[in-house]
Amino acid sequence: MIVEINYLPQWIPEQMTPGTVFVLDKAGESGDEADPFWAVLACPSCATLGLITRKQMAGLIPVICGSELCSAQFHIHGDEIIPRRVC
Ligand SMILES: [Zn+2]
Repeated sequence: MIVEINYLPQWIPEQMTPGTVFVLDKAGESGDEADPFWAVLACPSCATLGLITRKQMAGLIPVICGSELCSAQFHIHGDEIIPRRVC
C-alpha cells in the first residue's frame, strides 16, 4: 500500500502517526558525513520511530523498520512511501 507522507512542521511525538516525517532541525549535521541523518520517520506499518538519512529521504536507498516485530521495507519517493517487495 502506498502511503502519502505527512510532514510535521514541529516535533510533536503524539502526532507521529504511521507515515509521518519530521525533518530534523539540524538535518545533515550528524551521522555519516556522506549520508547524514536527515529526518525522523514513523514506520508506515507499525509507527515505530526511526532516523532516516539524506539518501533514504531522497529514495536512493531503502528504509528498513527498526522494530524487531516489524520487518517493513520501503522506499521514499517524493511525497509517498512505497513498500518494497520482500522475497
Ligand atoms: Zn515498522
